[in-house]
Amino acid sequence: MAETKKVAKASSRAGSAAADEALPSREEAVAAFSSALAPGLERARSRLSALADRPPQLLHVEGGELNERVGLALWWAALLNCANTEEAGALQPEPCLACSACLRIGAGLFADLVILDGREGNIKIDQVRELRPLLGEAPRFGRKRVVVVLEAQALGVEAANSLLKSLEEPCPDSCFLFTMPQRERLLPTLVSRGWVLTLPWPDPSRPLPESVRDWASALAEFTDSGRGWFERTSVKGAVDAVLAQNIVLAGQKALAERLTGKGSSGLARALGRVPESLVPAADELFAMCQEALQAQVNPSLVMDRMATELYLLTHGRS
Ligand SMILES: [Zn+2]
Repeated sequence: MAETKKVAKASSRAGSAAADEALPSREEAVAAFSSALAPGLERARSRLSALADRPPQLLHVEGGELNERVGLALWWAALLNCANTEEAGALQPEPCLACSACLRIGAGLFADLVILDGREGNIKIDQVRELRPLLGEAPRFGRKRVVVVLEAQALGVEAANSLLKSLEEPCPDSCFLFTMPQRERLLPTLVSRGWVLTLPWPDPSRPLPESVRDWASALAEFTDSGRGWFERTSVKGAVDAVLAQNIVLAGQKALAERLTGKGSSGLARALGRVPESLVPAADELFAMCQEALQAQVNPSLVMDRMATELYLLTHGRS
């Protein structure tokens, strides 16, 4: 995926009639698309395929994992420019991942793919300004110019407003795709201009990221002692919906470990004190929290409710 970081620069270098020897290998391109081809994203891909005929001006891809969002952004660019889906007329077209356009997009060498990359820090207003003259031009090589804003939560307010202005001007040859962990992290005016595709949340069987383990330990401590939780959640912006989803997953995982007796984490030990008869209630609590987060209830509130209920469950609430 490292290649995609160079896309913005590389694409202007590639030009419309780059020599054949510059064509990247199929392996290189397919590797870039691999996260988009993962099982579990079939539904997301088929929804994108259904949109490809009349692509929305702005598409948001939220949820899932970062590499899945990035992979699908490239896959979408390929879908809109692949030489072999153009004439196929299939109901559910997919990019061939073998033609020149697909290979170049996968390798980050496509003239009409522009990437603003928020993975490494703020996207500045200058980067958005540089883009604007380009939007008035026809695509150089493909059918659609695709402007991908990776992790659009990294847009500063000025940059976001400038993009919003671009979106208000007609640019029928350009499509925008923004990725983000969750739509709440974007200006509401930008969210409402676009079509949102939500990817499945990460698989609970995977190991927890370090930041989540840290919160899971804090939750274990609070479940034991009733201390050390609200100081964390009351810090503004400390818990976003994705982190909260992951903390709930950590709880579900720990509860499952408690049942199998395999749990060695602090949280599994803490939940080991939930009386047998109340395990279904704990299970239900986690499910309820997931639902609340998906319904966009404030993540800090959901976390506080979850911690309080877990404390009560382990301290003899009947
Ligand atoms: Zn193709």
